[in-house]
Amino acid sequence: GITIENVHLAFGDTEVLKGVNLDIQPGEFFAFLGPSGSGKSTLLRAIAGFGPTPKGRILIGDRDVVGLDPWKRNVGMVFQSYALWPHMSVRDNVAFGLKERKVPSAQIKTKVDAALELVDLAHLADRMPNQLSGGQQQRIALARTVVVEPDVLLLDEPLSNLDASLRVHMRRELLRLQRQLGLTTIFVTHDQEEANTTCDRMAVLDGGVIQQVGSPLELYDRPENLFVANFLGTAN
Ligand code: ATP
Ligand code: MG
Repeated sequence: GITIENVHLAFGDTEVLKGVNLDIQPGEFFAFLGPSGSGKSTLLRAIAGFGPTPKGRILIGDRDVVGLDPWKRNVGMVFQSYALWPHMSVRDNVAFGLKERKVPSAQIKTKVDAALELVDLAHLADRMPNQLSGGQQQRIALARTVVVEPDVLLLDEPLSNLDASLRVHMRRELLRLQRQLGLTTIFVTHDQEEANTTCDRMAVLDGGVIQQVGSPLELYDRPENLFVANFLGTAN
């Protein structure tokens, strides 16, 4: 699991995370919700090890990872801007992490094919990123991240560029994969329905502070403050 204790983070003089505490269970599918600028991406990036070093503790399993290089955290992250390496084909983009880990090439082919199958893009394996639509690039970014089987999967709005039906299909696939691998997953989304239908629990952020944590049902039934009630649209 992931434990976040009293995390503060600033860009220069501007504090963006203002004392975040959170416990995420092993194998949990957890969602971050909150308005634009509330700190969702910043918190996700801090867990992955990108951006300024926060104050406080971030435990992955029982290891405090604050200050540890991102590639030593065994965390897979799909960024909100899902940059693929422009000079590599789709297949090479997805294979990159496996090559880095010195996986034998016969296994690489099998794993890459399975990951591309998962996102329904096996037929585009030989394309270059600039020959793909935004949604297709997003799906390749997802395939590239899950192919290395990380301990923790961090997804920053990974389905935001997909049309409605593909989005529903992809979130089912994602949930299936997450359950199958028992992957501890944090999913940032603006889409409440998406959060409700996928996550075990969610956190609502505002102004760099977690306003409430609980199952979708708990938050909708018993919002702890007016912000949460308004944000989830349940105020009346
Ligand atoms: P969105 O839903 O729009 O993606 P978010 O909740 O992910 O929003 P963050 O990207 O975490 O929001 O940003 C939180 C705050 O930190 C914002 O006010 C943003 O302007 C600021 N911020 C983010 N990155 C930087 C940076 N590199 N330098 C300075 N300020 C930053
Ligand atoms: Mg963001």
